[in-house]
Amino acid sequence: MTEQAIQHTENPLDTDIQWLEGVGPRRAEVFRKVGVHTFRDLFRFFPRRYLDRTTVTPIRQLQEGIATTIVGRVVSQNMIEAGKKRFEMQVEDESGGRINCVWFHGHQWVRRLFINGELVALHGSPQKFGRSFSFTHPDYDKLETEKASLTTGRIIPLYPGGQAWDRVGLSNKALRHIIYGLFKKYGLLLDENLPESIRKKYSLMEGRIALRAIHFPKSEEERELAMHRLKFEEFFFLQMLLATTRQQVKKTADGLVFEAPGKYFEQFTQTVLPFTLTNAQLKAISDVLEDTRSGYPMNRLVQGDVGSGKTVVAIAAMLHAIDSGYQAAFMAPTEILAEQHYQSLCRYLEPLGLKVHLLVGGQHKKRRTEILNDLAAGDAQIAVGTHAIIEDKVVFKALGMAVVDEQHRFGVMQRARMFDKGQRPHMLLMTATPIPRSLAMTVYGDLDVTIMNELPANRKPIKTLLRNEARRGEVYEFMRTELRAGRQAYVVYPLVEESEKLDLKDAENGFEQITEAFRPYKAGLVHGRMLPYEKEEEMKRFKDGTLDILVATTVIEVGVDVPNASVMVIEHAERFGLSQLHQLRGRVGRGTEQSYCILMADYKQSAEAKTRLEVMVGTTDGFVISEEDLKLRGAGDFFGTRQSGLPDLKIANITQDADILARAREAAFALVADDPHLRIPENELTRNHFLRSAPQSLGMARIG
Ligand code: ADP
Ligand code: MG
Repeated sequence: MTEQAIQHTENPLDTDIQWLEGVGPRRAEVFRKVGVHTFRDLFRFFPRRYLDRTTVTPIRQLQEGIATTIVGRVVSQNMIEAGKKRFEMQVEDESGGRINCVWFHGHQWVRRLFINGELVALHGSPQKFGRSFSFTHPDYDKLETEKASLTTGRIIPLYPGGQAWDRVGLSNKALRHIIYGLFKKYGLLLDENLPESIRKKYSLMEGRIALRAIHFPKSEEERELAMHRLKFEEFFFLQMLLATTRQQVKKTADGLVFEAPGKYFEQFTQTVLPFTLTNAQLKAISDVLEDTRSGYPMNRLVQGDVGSGKTVVAIAAMLHAIDSGYQAAFMAPTEILAEQHYQSLCRYLEPLGLKVHLLVGGQHKKRRTEILNDLAAGDAQIAVGTHAIIEDKVVFKALGMAVVDEQHRFGVMQRARMFDKGQRPHMLLMTATPIPRSLAMTVYGDLDVTIMNELPANRKPIKTLLRNEARRGEVYEFMRTELRAGRQAYVVYPLVEESEKLDLKDAENGFEQITEAFRPYKAGLVHGRMLPYEKEEEMKRFKDGTLDILVATTVIEVGVDVPNASVMVIEHAERFGLSQLHQLRGRVGRGTEQSYCILMADYKQSAEAKTRLEVMVGTTDGFVISEEDLKLRGAGDFFGTRQSGLPDLKIANITQDADILARAREAAFALVADDPHLRIPENELTRNHFLRSAPQSLGMARIG
């Protein structure tokens, strides 16, 4: 190889960041912590904020609770030892306004940071004390060196900062200097990573120009165009991942082929079911029939609001597999739910001569061995259970249909393990948490989706009421009316993990109080600390009508099905999240009677809690609720802390940039359809960028 050739195989952009002028080993450490390892990464280390005349608010015009940036001079600082130990600093701006900044214990390294008279930018949400404003732990930037640029009306980029950065002398000015040098020396090496045709079609700024403009914008307009281009690009490569994964699945046409529906399927849908299927159920079932005939493994998500009758769809899908000589598995997130499914499956399917097994934790060893033997030998056709189903010891003779109920409660790995239980079984994922379209396109982008947007015809919409403690007597009186008419009621208490003990006490006290208040009606109690069989006993007694009232923690949140229950009282409703409230409410309104959901809430509520309760009173539409939930919580929290498969986005925002997302998705899917392996010369640079950036997240894509 000639020397020149060697040079070409090693792209300078992949050089370790420590070798960049102005960096060195100590600063490199700090860069690595934020994911900047190479020169190339630094181009994409975006400013977190910009400062110009239009984004700075005079202190005199501050408004309480609204996040703002101010620019002013430090006038005084002091450590305060009395009371809660803290460091305070006063800043005054040109408007003559003054603001106090407070850092509490643990953040006191700031006390050696500023000098009086120094120019600073502070960003935070001001609080009002008496007549003056105060920031607690504001974000800050030292601006002494920016003075000139500020007055000339330039836009100044502000980068992430903090103690670690200050310690190695990486002020904003220093960072800007380093990045400026980077552009000067290596900027021309940046390749365009979007195909020309896509750039034209969607009017996107050139990549290299966009990167320069995001760091050093010449105008607000240019900055916005750059932002748009980079957001598009970020979504685009995410969607490429989903598009190619789907392509992969479709290409390997080794899916099990199930022919026309057979006898079990026909018997179940035509004679066993005590009701006629809704159109939405028929559509979902026909999607499944089509997928399983196609020769590709099915990978379908059924999104149906609570009570839309997804279980029936799952049973039909499983019977379709059994008709074709395969077994089926049905995984649910809780024991209560698994047991309930087990009971309905037995009720429906044993008359047809099928053998169904339940697999949950804590079963007797002997029983468990029997079950495992039956499944391995193919003597049982269906296994229903909790994640006990995906344990290594569970082996199927021939698993053809794997159903995951309430799939959002499982992690990506658990769903993948389910898939691995068979030879590429068909997967049917079900969820009652409607996912806003934008999120569905991101997290479930490689799935086919069926939406069940119809409840069985006999349902009346649930009435939701908001009540406070003062009206408890009235609420109880109303419950009595319903009980007298032969209905049943739930009373639910929150169970927040951090204060589990206290909450449990709440539920237990509530149970005693209810038992007392509602004599001679019978109440029962279920909570997460009970043994599975105890919970099951109590649930059974509620289901068969022995109990009139069930006091519970959120263990009943998913799936529990007692159509005769017509009232749900939710205590401390302000403490629940929106999707949780929606799930809970879905426990009533499952029969033909008018049902009610009563939200008991304290007077004292945060603004967000108030919004949640208003949303619940205002609508029963799960999609509307999930959109609101996403708005309130943001995408990161939408799925809770559970491993969600949500991608890490640097610049784009799933909620706010949903329209860019939709266009990027369209572009990516069209590109992959045209050129599945990105072999056309025009797509080569896109391919390179994709291969460089994709692998780490590949795992998430296979089955959602
Ligand atoms: P989810 O979609 O919340 O899982 P389920 O499958 O638990 O809903 O069904 C809710 C209730 O509706 C069950 O009692 C079920 O038997 C009943 N059901 C399902 N489909 C129909 C239908 N087509 N007509 C009437 N009732 C139905
Ligand atoms: Mg269900």
